[in-house]
Amino acid sequence: MAEQIKINFLGTGSAVPTARRNHPAVLLTYKDENILFDCGEGTQKQFRLAQLNPCKLTRIFITHWHGDHIFGLPGILQTLMMNNYSGTLKIYGPKGTNHFMDIYKRMYLSKADAIKIETKELSGKETIEEKEFKIECAEMTHDAPCLAYSFTIKEKNRLDKKKLSKLKLPGNSPLIGELVKGKTIEFEGKKIDGKKLVYSEPQRKIVYATDTKLNDNLIKIAEKSNILISEATYSGEEEELANEYLHMTCVQAANIAKKAKCEQLYLIHLSQRYDNPKYILEEAKKVFKNTKVPEDLDSLKL
Ligand SMILES: [Zn+2]
Ligand SMILES: [Zn+2]
Repeated sequence: MAEQIKINFLGTGSAVPTARRNHPAVLLTYKDENILFDCGEGTQKQFRLAQLNPCKLTRIFITHWHGDHIFGLPGILQTLMMNNYSGTLKIYGPKGTNHFMDIYKRMYLSKADAIKIETKELSGKETIEEKEFKIECAEMTHDAPCLAYSFTIKEKNRLDKKKLSKLKLPGNSPLIGELVKGKTIEFEGKKIDGKKLVYSEPQRKIVYATDTKLNDNLIKIAEKSNILISEATYSGEEEELANEYLHMTCVQAANIAKKAKCEQLYLIHLSQRYDNPKYILEEAKKVFKNTKVPEDLDSLKL
């Protein structure tokens, strides 16, 4: 069975928090990786309410340096420092990230090197490539440099465990590696065709996009994602406002999900005026049926 990806919606609100919705922050967990997308004010408290430990963080991806997406960083950094965080925290973000992180480190850490932080500024064209997954980014249209991110578990070959156990190969046999590649091996005088034991585990893709005006880059990065987490700051009838303030309506987000052939759409970054999301949800569902509006601390597995 494929290793699960878990997503925790720590904050689903926008610039002004409400009792129901904190500022944006979404945690993605896969194996040892705990990847946070955005870190609005109070995010570390949301971690605790969700019974999660911020000290397990491995990476933080910042969409842009507007307050509602980054005011939680100083608190998290201080907590990691006070708990003797032993890892290396990788922080990625758009143009300006190196400069802002220098200020944050000087302001909020007792010594700039109190914890290990690697900062990487992205232009929107880079791919962060790891063995099992990759993270890509795309430039969004907002009144600050802003990036959307995709997290993709790569398609890979796996061995059918039942069939494998029947062969009685020793667990540490290098022949297993050959079988995964679909090669034919010889074991105890018998020829075994790897292709008959191998099956392909399809890729899984999650996209996180906020804040932005409707744009073509978003359709491209969202393409064929299993889960699109998108901003929906406004309701459908407020399209003019959305365009003016470089945000999207729930109907525009639903259209993106439809055009990009996504499986499931989750709407976040709701304006404080839509504390009850029923209307937003109904409007979006008319365009894209598989839409949800998650609440703070909701989670899902993929
Ligand atoms: Zn925002
Ligand atoms: Zn913004």
